Amino acid sequence: MTIIDPLRPSSALLQINGVEFPPPSQRRATEKREGAYATALAQFDRAAQILNLDPGLADTLRSCKRELTVNFPVKMDNGEVRRFTGYRVHHNTARGPTKGGIRYAPTVDLDEVRALAMWMTWKCAVVNIPYGGAKGGVVCNPKELSLRELEGLTRRYTTEISSFISPEGDIPAPDMGTNPQIMAWIMDTYSMHRGYSVPAIVTGKPINIGGSAGRFEATGRGIMFTVREAYRTFGWDFDGISVVVQGFGNVGSITAQTAHEMGCRVIAVSDVEGGIYNPKGLDIPRLRRYVREHSTVQGFDGGDRITNAELLELPCDVLVPAATENQITRANADRIKARVVAEGANGPTTPEADEILMANNVLVIPDILCNAGGVIVSYFEWVQSLQQLFWEEDDVTHRLERIMVRSFHDVYEQSIRMNLDLRTSALVLGIGRVAEATQTRGLYP
Ligand code: NAD
Repeated sequence: MTIIDPLRPSSALLQINGVEFPPPSQRRATEKREGAYATALAQFDRAAQILNLDPGLADTLRSCKRELTVNFPVKMDNGEVRRFTGYRVHHNTARGPTKGGIRYAPTVDLDEVRALAMWMTWKCAVVNIPYGGAKGGVVCNPKELSLRELEGLTRRYTTEISSFISPEGDIPAPDMGTNPQIMAWIMDTYSMHRGYSVPAIVTGKPINIGGSAGRFEATGRGIMFTVREAYRTFGWDFDGISVVVQGFGNVGSITAQTAHEMGCRVIAVSDVEGGIYNPKGLDIPRLRRYVREHSTVQGFDGGDRITNAELLELPCDVLVPAATENQITRANADRIKARVVAEGANGPTTPEADEILMANNVLVIPDILCNAGGVIVSYFEWVQSLQQLFWEEDDVTHRLERIMVRSFHDVYEQSIRMNLDLRTSALVLGIGRVAEATQTRGLYP
């Protein structure tokens, strides 16, 4: 059986267990051209090979189950009508309903959404919550839209994908460029169509309409719980370590805040326009107040300006890429000086960069483990919304920490047993669990 993969030259195929996979050298060749989806497929192939998956099963797990593209009009403030394109992709439903964020960015395309949906499937399985993976996105620049235009776009996109989402089938959440207000509009639009309130249609909602305490903070907190557990496990001193964070949105700002509260020195942060650096440590609470007022870290007087490229290469203990994909590539991996790369963003490191970091003894805590705090507390929010019963923030955060710590050890101990790096171990764990669930359910009809 031959898997025809348009991303790769057929001469590069390798036969494993009846399935043909490209060797690593050919996978690397695709890095520059292809982006997140090529990375996701290359990672899957490596794990599938280690798991010795049945060829038909590997081919199924490698593909997205359903993909919806929608084109829809929005009336702009100047009276013009503009067409937007959006997507919602369900990657896999073997372990439960699909779950995954909605991204608003000019760079969104179907391949990116596929990659993000696939990573959601493995992530939910790694932390053992009963979901499959999905993702959505709209090609737009939310910063260029007025609040009214953003609401119109969100309500129309929700209507266009409404046959694809449901509290039992597929539950969206925030991602890059979306926030609790946008989740509120999704919840309201879906509820208007049904004629009654359906809070469990979406997670990451504002607390006053059924959101969970601790959801907004969950991803950033989860990242730092995992980093601290890694330090404990390796017997490294965690006190006062230096932390660099790329991206200062939901994930980046809360990671920086949590690191600050844990006694770390956050020496640099950035947003899309560039970063600020202070080797003595930034005043994160003051910086967050500044960003609330100015919507950017630019102009903050507590540090010097640096570019995003310079920020990634700063000497530090922990580097947290918390912005977007493909930030650490073969072009800069050799110059990364961090001891630990804790992946807040999804897919920030390409497969080739992974190999360089490994050769340089940089510990990479992979995205599907490290940033799973968001989907874990989204799961808590969904459960609370279905039951109309609400938990205290302390309870949410303790449960989150327990799952992050347990999942870190599941991945770490398997990595020792099987002699794997943490990313491959996490993928093998997640993909293995999805494969098992698929086999247990059996093939319909
Ligand atoms: P966000 O929109 O709140 O913030 C994104 C931040 O990154 C902003 O500060 C933006 O200026 C910056 N940024 C964007 N492009 C950049 C670039 N090219 N270079 C440098 N900075 C850039 O988004 P978020 O929710 O914080 O998500 C960030 C990442 O974390 C994404 O990869 C997302 O998929 C991932 N993630 C988010 C969650 C969640 O709960 N929100 C959970 C898991 C993973």
